[in-house]
Amino acid sequence: MIRRIPGVRGAQAYLYDSGEGLAVIDPGYTGSSRAVLRFITAQGLRTVDWVILTHHHIDHAGTAFALCQATGARLAVHRADAPYLQAGRPRERMTVWGLADRLPPRLASFVVSCAGGDRRILEDGETVAGLTVVHGPGHTPGSICLYSDSQSALFLGDVLNNERGLRTPPWTVNHSHRDAMRAPHRLGTLRFDHAYFGHGPAILESADQRVRAFLTRRRPVPVPVG
Ligand SMILES: [Zn+2]
Ligand SMILES: [Zn+2]
Repeated sequence: MIRRIPGVRGAQAYLYDSGEGLAVIDPGYTGSSRAVLRFITAQGLRTVDWVILTHHHIDHAGTAFALCQATGARLAVHRADAPYLQAGRPRERMTVWGLADRLPPRLASFVVSCAGGDRRILEDGETVAGLTVVHGPGHTPGSICLYSDSQSALFLGDVLNNERGLRTPPWTVNHSHRDAMRAPHRLGTLRFDHAYFGHGPAILESADQRVRAFLTRRRPVPVPVG
């Protein structure tokens, strides 16, 4: 079962269940936990087992800690992004996100997500709630996609968005733009019908072909020698 959660601010939030625990993927910007809870209740569901973050940005992760506290769910985040959810987080380079490090703490709390408490640290290739972690660093060091073999689906976080067709995020929001440009190439070998993005509409048919077509367009054409 996959549902987009309505009423969440920031990035798109999803409910995922394949019989190995109910997961909320990227619950959204600070203050969105009530919308998530309302939707869970409306679906006749009671427990949330996991809150899984595709990365630490506040439009995806801002309400993660509140949701964990309200439901008793465990937080799961990739090892390389976990430090960004704690006080004394690493400094960002000067992108839009890096500006947060120059703000007074009260203002910074609007652009920096803090989710303390117990968490599961994810590594590439591990599974959580029936989803396989596909590490695609660049947008953030610990950016991941989540792959579901049983539901033939891929959650892309911000590794690719679908706001005006498939795109990698602009350099202004990437931790390492070079890596962010390379990150989607790992997805070319996966088979999935459905693709769900942090930003932009889902693709619900032959999504893997669309991603592969994007990668082919993007791959630099070798210059003939001689
Ligand atoms: Zn985002
Ligand atoms: Zn992001």
